Amino acid sequence: IGQSGENQVQYACVINDLKHACGRNGTGAIMGYKNLKAVAIKGTLGFNFKDKDKIMEISKWYAKYQKDHPLSRGKYLYGTAAGVESLSKSGILPTRNFKDGSFEKAKEISGQTMADTILIQRGGCFGCPVRCKRVVKVDEEDMQVDPKFGGPEYETIGAMGSMCGIGDLEVIAKAHELCNDFGIDTISAGVSISFAMECFEKGIINEEDTEGIKLNFGNEKALLKLIEDIAYKRGFGKILAQGVKEMSQEFGKGSEEFAMHVKGQELPMHEPRGKIGVGLGYAVSPTGADHMQAAHDTMITEDGPILDAVKILGLTKAVDPMTYGKDKAEFYGIMEKWWSFLNMVGMCDFIPAPRGSMPIEKFMELINAATGWDFTPEEAMEVGERGITAARKLNYDLGIDESHEDLPKRLYQPLQNGSLKGVSMDKDKFLEMKKYYYEYMGWDEKGYPKEETLTRLGL
Ligand code: SF4
Repeated sequence: IGQSGENQVQYACVINDLKHACGRNGTGAIMGYKNLKAVAIKGTLGFNFKDKDKIMEISKWYAKYQKDHPLSRGKYLYGTAAGVESLSKSGILPTRNFKDGSFEKAKEISGQTMADTILIQRGGCFGCPVRCKRVVKVDEEDMQVDPKFGGPEYETIGAMGSMCGIGDLEVIAKAHELCNDFGIDTISAGVSISFAMECFEKGIINEEDTEGIKLNFGNEKALLKLIEDIAYKRGFGKILAQGVKEMSQEFGKGSEEFAMHVKGQELPMHEPRGKIGVGLGYAVSPTGADHMQAAHDTMITEDGPILDAVKILGLTKAVDPMTYGKDKAEFYGIMEKWWSFLNMVGMCDFIPAPRGSMPIEKFMELINAATGWDFTPEEAMEVGERGITAARKLNYDLGIDESHEDLPKRLYQPLQNGSLKGVSMDKDKFLEMKKYYYEYMGWDEKGYPKEETLTRLGL
């Protein structure tokens, strides 16, 4: 952990090798609280796979297979920020604290522009052939960014860029470097600064509160200074280090309406007014607003190879991102169980279908070659379901219940620009869909797992 974790910033994170972030939920603050600076691991025993030859065979096959596959190729070429411009055109690029859905400088901060300017290498996690990670370098007189910190991914570009009204990739790369250096979650930091910018522009806070900083959207110098101030909890950074939930409680004056968090966790860079299922995920996620709980509804919008790839999990229909209802609740539940299973086996969501190019059957072969089991997709789904249900039971036992499972008021209000201008979420339909989801998961109408569900899952 960095200074941010040592000082117990609410959204301090754990950084591995200076560039891989265990980003969300303030795990760095927990380590700081326990006086635990780092965990070092060195192994000597190698991998103890049941069928090593099979693992090697599938790995070699996949390294070749994924190379020209559209679901892998774009990630390699342009990283996770490949879609910045198209998201902006579709009106779902979170911009200026989710007031807007389109950013006039989307092209300047896209993965494509990065590839043409500051990108010096495509990086990746250990052994992964997809290599979606970025390594960037800036060496200007007034700005240097060290490649040892990797490079900004989509979430960082959204949170530090469009959310703060900043369209300069070098500034965003510097913000990314500072966050990795201090051990700060880039999403929560960007959303907190963006929230403060809106409060400043609305006159809810002023220069006296910010200690002389003119905190308008687009203020690049303020962004970089405040990241450091957050890490050391000094000046206005001490306020920002609390995150938007506590900031809005302190600022008052109606700022709660646009404090973009669920269960105290700041929203990631995905706009629920254009992906209703993602909104459901933000509300019901056990860890607060999270975009990595389930595949997004924009991923499977029509019949075709992606839908075919996940039929084995029980999904039979594509979905319209703009609809609510039973089908959407079921879509979310199925995808959530699958991604929960991937989390449990430590597999990146960008590898197997539907987000990645590896067929699910092939992925199950890998699991079985590693373990020597005869594991089926149905069993995998049950393991995923058990994880979700156990987390829910724990949350409810700790007092985090259905009353916390709603969205920030702003999402029920219209977007201010872009192709979805005027579109808002329908609260009644949203709450009805949440009930369908509880029902699908075998929970009661308050969202608590029914006795028979707990028994079936061995909980
Ligand atoms: S494991 Fe996932 S995040 Fe890591 S390089 Fe591969 S695709 Fe990217």
